Amino acid sequence: MKFRRTALLLAQVLASFAALAGACLALVWLENSVTSLPRPTLPPSAGEMQKTPLVLVDAGHGGHDGGAVAHGSIEKHLTLEIARRLRTHLEAAGLRVVMTREKDEFLPLDTRAALTARHGAAAFVSIHINTDGSGTAAEGIETYFAAKPSLSAIRQTGGKAAKRPASEDLAAQVQKHVCEATRAENRGIKDRGYVVISQAACPAVLVECGFLTNSAEAARLKDATHQEKLAQGIATGVKRFLQSRPAGSVVLAAK
Ligand SMILES: [Zn+2]
Repeated sequence: MKFRRTALLLAQVLASFAALAGACLALVWLENSVTSLPRPTLPPSAGEMQKTPLVLVDAGHGGHDGGAVAHGSIEKHLTLEIARRLRTHLEAAGLRVVMTREKDEFLPLDTRAALTARHGAAAFVSIHINTDGSGTAAEGIETYFAAKPSLSAIRQTGGKAAKRPASEDLAAQVQKHVCEATRAENRGIKDRGYVVISQAACPAVLVECGFLTNSAEAARLKDATHQEKLAQGIATGVKRFLQSRPAGSVVLAAK
């Protein structure tokens, strides 16, 4: 009888040890599997979103306004293609992007420019394709900026737009990098008070991506590889410009 009680007690003690060891093993496994799981990524807070610069991308023309027509292409379709590719490159660089239009629709120029203030854009890029009325020889890329913002842009920004010489810097960066990426002829940057850029409430440029009137360039502009190079070059220019801005004016994700 005494022997049976001792044996029972021993069995109980052993069982407790086994349970404890099992629990420990389970804990170790649980810990390992938890640490090997990917950490949940929290969505960026409203404050962080505010700090990520927003680029407003404008595909020129649209709807009843086709823009230039030559060599079987219509400008409004090419600008939308390049603008979509530009958005992809800018987003890949960690920037926020809003498009003025995402389909074949008409938008007045002042409406496009006003979107810069509504979205608090850090930069505005309008995509166009050039034509040369005097012949078919002209080719290459040129980027326009408006040194003098319009009165409405100055009003919209409470006077800040009057003090921004930054559009020329943005134009220089975009022109440099888009020409490097495409090896297209560099026609330089030009100061012109086009409505869509002069009424923008942030640094703004209009890129003429090539001449539709030049048959060789018209063929390139239709080519997806060339469109990619245009988009990549413009995106690099925008990125360099934003990175060069004084600390605190814009915050760019490291890339
Ligand atoms: Zn145009």
